[in-house]
Amino acid sequence: MLTLRNPATEAVIHEMPHATVDDVDAAIAAAKAASPAWRALSPVDRTRLLRRFADTIGAHADELAELETRNMGMPLGSSTWCANAVADTIHYFAGAVEKHTGSSIPVAGGVDVTFHEPLGVVGLITPWNFPMLMASWKIGPALAAGNAAVLKPAEITPLTTMRLAELALEAGIPEGVLNVVVGPGSKVGWRMVEHPDVRKIGFTGSTEVGKRLMVGCADQVKRVTLELGGKSANIVFADADLEKAALAAPGAVFDNSGQDCCARSRVLVQRSVFDRFLDLFIESSRAWKVGDPMAADTAMGPLVTAGHLAAVRSYSDGLDTVFTGEAPTGPGYWHPVMIATPAYDAVVCHEEVFGPVAVVIPFDDEADAIRICNDSVYGLSGSVWTRDGARALRVARAMEAGTISVNSNSSVRYATPFGGFKQSGLGREHSMHALDHYSELKNVFISTD
Ligand code: NAD
Repeated sequence: MLTLRNPATEAVIHEMPHATVDDVDAAIAAAKAASPAWRALSPVDRTRLLRRFADTIGAHADELAELETRNMGMPLGSSTWCANAVADTIHYFAGAVEKHTGSSIPVAGGVDVTFHEPLGVVGLITPWNFPMLMASWKIGPALAAGNAAVLKPAEITPLTTMRLAELALEAGIPEGVLNVVVGPGSKVGWRMVEHPDVRKIGFTGSTEVGKRLMVGCADQVKRVTLELGGKSANIVFADADLEKAALAAPGAVFDNSGQDCCARSRVLVQRSVFDRFLDLFIESSRAWKVGDPMAADTAMGPLVTAGHLAAVRSYSDGLDTVFTGEAPTGPGYWHPVMIATPAYDAVVCHEEVFGPVAVVIPFDDEADAIRICNDSVYGLSGSVWTRDGARALRVARAMEAGTISVNSNSSVRYATPFGGFKQSGLGREHSMHALDHYSELKNVFISTD
């Protein structure tokens, strides 16, 4: 039995049985049965149905947002943004169906054309930190490319994903095209890795589990895309607008209680402005209100579970901080925001904490900033703050990370590719590139002799 709690109150909000391996097999069989008709649907009809799905999500945005906040703990303002972003993401991929075109290639003796063909049944596995948003990043391209899907959300935050599946049916997406199974990853998720009818695994989660899935997929040469962890750098040069950078820095790392794969949790600051920037960063973090996620002025809610709170505390307990914010004392899984300037070899400077803990690290010059930024097994995102346009581009190009912003924290737009270098992942989500990862490229040569 799954018992779901509101992380802000610890009250039980829902109880439900786990899916079994037989349930997963039944969902895969339903997807397999639905797949031929879905792939055969004319592109314009697939677009129409996905648009209806997106509109239905938009019409239920407030309900989805509240459900997400109660299940996961993110502030209502963030969950409302997420619900609308889910609708926008599905709209984007609805519009992409007819635009994912093949090509004709000049060859001797005939005509050569390429086609993007659906994979069939795809298995989608999502984490708990942005439950419905992560689900939409996979549902959108998977269905637009003509696949049927079985989606396994994180078992602690399944409610909005389950609701999305209901809304899909309500919007007219045929039964079996989108199936949701809820249960532990090692059983329910792993079954999709093992099952021969699942042609691809689209995974978002930790690097540790991602590595295991990649090995599991190797046996059948199953397609796999991975969106994994990060320890992203927020690089502030002395010539930056320091006030602006410092105002944005709390959101870059404390948003969603730091439970964000893109969190810029390493703040690299040029030595000549280190003290000044640190003061400004502390000042702007003081205004970062931690509390009831249903309240309109809350910037940060609780962490997701008692277990995750303990994991974050294993980094923050005893940490010598330069700033520790205020947080409620409980019930609820509360953790204050923290800023620290530890020695560079401290574990907290290198491992993903996935909580509201920022480390601030000095650097000397451009080369030093790039060296420190790239001294990580991760490479998901990052920011550069400078008024020098040439430097911004030089540094952005030299950073070993997939998603960079200049004079901004923002990483995510449904129309632009998103994904990681190194151990932050494999493949890209969002944009037309995502469709490539949910289809096979076929080449056909037609002789004109
Ligand atoms: P997790 O790896 O523990 O779990 C992710 C999903 O995988 C869950 O649904 C889980 O049940 C499932 N799972 C676990 N073990 C499995 C197995 N053996 N077989 C199949 N499925 C299994 O990650 P999490 O704690 O839910 O999420 C946090 C992590 O996700 C962080 O590392 C974060 O950086 C990462 N993340 C990455 C992105 C991105 O886009 N790069 C986005 C969000 C979160």
